[in-house]
Amino acid sequence: MDYLPIFTKLENRHCLVVGGGDIAARKVKLLLKANATITVCAPDICDWLLEKAQHNQISIINELFTDQLIDGKWLVIAATNQDHINEHVAKLAEKKQILVNVVDEPKLCSFIMPSIVDRSPIVVAISSGGSAPVLARLIRERLEALLPMHIGRLAKISGEFRHRVKQVISKESLRRRYWEKLFGNGDLAGLLQKGQTEKAQQLMEENLTEEVAKGDVALVGAGPGDPSLLTLKALQLMQQADVVLYDRLVSKEILELVRRDADLISVGKAAGKHEVQQSRTNEMLVELAKQGKKVVRLKGGDSFIFGRGGEELEELVEAGVAFQVVPGITSASGCSTYAGIPLTHRDYAQSVTFVTGHRKADGKDLDWKALSTAHQTLVVYMGLLRAEEIESNLLTNGRDANTPVALINKGTTSQQQVITGTLSELSKLGGGLEGPTLMIIGEVVSLSSKIGWFTPDNQQKLSRDPFLVNLA
Ligand code: SAH
Repeated sequence: MDYLPIFTKLENRHCLVVGGGDIAARKVKLLLKANATITVCAPDICDWLLEKAQHNQISIINELFTDQLIDGKWLVIAATNQDHINEHVAKLAEKKQILVNVVDEPKLCSFIMPSIVDRSPIVVAISSGGSAPVLARLIRERLEALLPMHIGRLAKISGEFRHRVKQVISKESLRRRYWEKLFGNGDLAGLLQKGQTEKAQQLMEENLTEEVAKGDVALVGAGPGDPSLLTLKALQLMQQADVVLYDRLVSKEILELVRRDADLISVGKAAGKHEVQQSRTNEMLVELAKQGKKVVRLKGGDSFIFGRGGEELEELVEAGVAFQVVPGITSASGCSTYAGIPLTHRDYAQSVTFVTGHRKADGKDLDWKALSTAHQTLVVYMGLLRAEEIESNLLTNGRDANTPVALINKGTTSQQQVITGTLSELSKLGGGLEGPTLMIIGEVVSLSSKIGWFTPDNQQKLSRDPFLVNLA
């Protein structure tokens, strides 16, 4: 970070603006918003500034800059059209340790002025550190459109109510919950938008109980690995969570997006390492929710597809804990897409079946006969260790030995590997692979060589920040 953003209080503090043209006037306008005490110094003064002086909003010294003018000032802005004067002012201010800004000369500045979205008391400041002002402006325009006018009023009445909330709800985490609930459901904002301030205040009062403390669980599918495949809802919940219980399959990049202050608990199973038993995970979910926490249970892919999400929810129902479920992109969908394998295709496969290679010890075996018919796609989760058995069962039941197969390792991530071959070599394809691997068997796999589009090399080129793309 080249500049530290800070918001300074300028009310009744002396500021000097050197220059009397339009640019100086723009800076004065901003300083006036912050109620600064402003002196403008220039031999020529524009009408707008003269008018402000007439209304006693600013003082004017109608002459060339002299060094002593800088004394006793908090900050100085040099906005003349004379480079040597601007530079002189900057150097003098620097020597006297007074904050100085020279318009359009970042090198001479000890502070720079950001683009601003003003919804006071909410103020958003954007800066590119002088490197891309146009981009900063475009971002500002986006934010202008995004932040409704009444957001300022919302912040204002919340500020007025803070003390009251502190009186009623003593615990900080519960107060946070109170505010999140109020801001989260849109009712309060809706009333303010209609100008119904009194009703808004009433609503704040009505909600003011420790009852908001009830915890809950969100069972959230995190997708196969690429963080940009998260749903918006997943991201919102991750950013509101008090605690996140996550699986080994959830990528580090995704965990980075969790609210900074949230506790992260790994309940993942890594081969050979200690694993938190499923029953213990279920218990933890109940315990944490009962402590009033907002719990996110983050799982790889989709929780309802070989994710044991159903089992965890049954426990929550029994314990009377409130919950919601957010679907995620399952690895069959994510990995096949990133490998260029459409799971169905009019010419190659009329159906697709998801199976798991890993079953409960007493689990029923798969219907190999049905799975061996041609022109259908078979996606095997957790199949790598049973590749030999899968291969022989399908062959014995009549699936063509030349049926194309693919192993997709660490799909959708920058380390994705796609290995293709035929069914008769399936058990030999995956030697040495580590990390999650998905198996796809079926004629559609042949399309991968033609329409495969994602490789770690071209990832950079293809990844477009959706926000910036829309901006352009
Ligand atoms: N609920 C998850 C699946 C969990 S089972 C989902 O919907 O995707 C774990 C298996 O999922 C792994 O053994 C592997 O077969 C598959 N898998 C999950 N993420 C994967 C990834 N990024 N690449 C390849 N396979 C993946």
